[in-house]
Amino acid sequence: MDQNGGRAVSGTAPPEDSGREHGDGDEPFRSGFVAIIGRPNVGKSTLINRMLGQKVSIVSDKPNTTRTPIRGVLQRRDAQLVLVDTPGLHKPRTLLGERLNAAATSASEGVDVVCLVIDARAGLGRGDRRLLAELPADGVVVLNKVDGIDPAKVLTQLGAVAATFGSTGGERGDAHEYFALSASTGQGVGELVEHLVGRMPPGPAFFPVDQVTDTPEAFWVAELVREQLLARTYEELPHSIATRVTEWEWPRIRCEILVERESQKGIVIGKGGENLKAAGTAVRGQLAPGAFIELHVRVSKDWQRRARALDDLGL
Ligand code: GDP
Repeated sequence: MDQNGGRAVSGTAPPEDSGREHGDGDEPFRSGFVAIIGRPNVGKSTLINRMLGQKVSIVSDKPNTTRTPIRGVLQRRDAQLVLVDTPGLHKPRTLLGERLNAAATSASEGVDVVCLVIDARAGLGRGDRRLLAELPADGVVVLNKVDGIDPAKVLTQLGAVAATFGSTGGERGDAHEYFALSASTGQGVGELVEHLVGRMPPGPAFFPVDQVTDTPEAFWVAELVREQLLARTYEELPHSIATRVTEWEWPRIRCEILVERESQKGIVIGKGGENLKAAGTAVRGQLAPGAFIELHVRVSKDWQRRARALDDLGL
């Protein structure tokens, strides 16, 4: 069985210089951790996938898609960058929301660099300002989604960010760096990677050189299923779906889909089962050949609000 079959599936290309080799050994090997934080939907997962040149985090246009910190490992000859994706910080309305915030906060503790992503299209919101105020003085600010945006508007946005950051703590504004980029097109991403590599302390690699993520395979497949379900129109459901793999007997994988109420079951399944079927096919296409996915929908009443249910899901 090809354990890694599911990983080499991205539609993205690596940033041009992500694999560049440096010098001839004069420079020390560098390694460290980078937390990618930001409000929901600003493009954190897209940015990490782009930096890695592989898909390790699911992407969706629905907020709060990322539920657990996912580590991606950017491997270079001269450095290893461990990227920690975090659930978007937001005002919690449920127990799940509170736990997502706690996970995001703890993920950014003890890292070498905290990188705050802001959406250039949405503009600087109250949530962004709060995160800017809490960003360490040497934090990196990324203005994402600058593709197709008037450069003058990008400059205005950067000015607003700098004014906010600089005004929240006197000298704090001096040490940070700004990057305007597009995670979608890759424009400007190489510069960010170079900067982050330079910021890592000299030290040995944390992960084997062929490892791209520490996400267990079963968790990854469950995430792919969730991504497909989110993509299939559940305006009213995005937060109500949880997925987990309950059996893994290669090539047979059984994945359970939890919804909160009986009425949501039919929406997930679709007319004549068409939604489930399409989701299963799309996921299978991203796994090693031969994979067979069984999808089961189950009601777990109000799972988002019950500690036991969240514990069971590892959230
Ligand atoms: P996250 O919640 O912060 O992880 O955000 P995602 O990575 O899931 O992205 C949220 C949405 O923004 C998705 O629809 C992405 O396709 C879109 N997006 C991300 N980066 C860019 C970008 O650079 N340009 C544009 N135009 N869209 C982007």
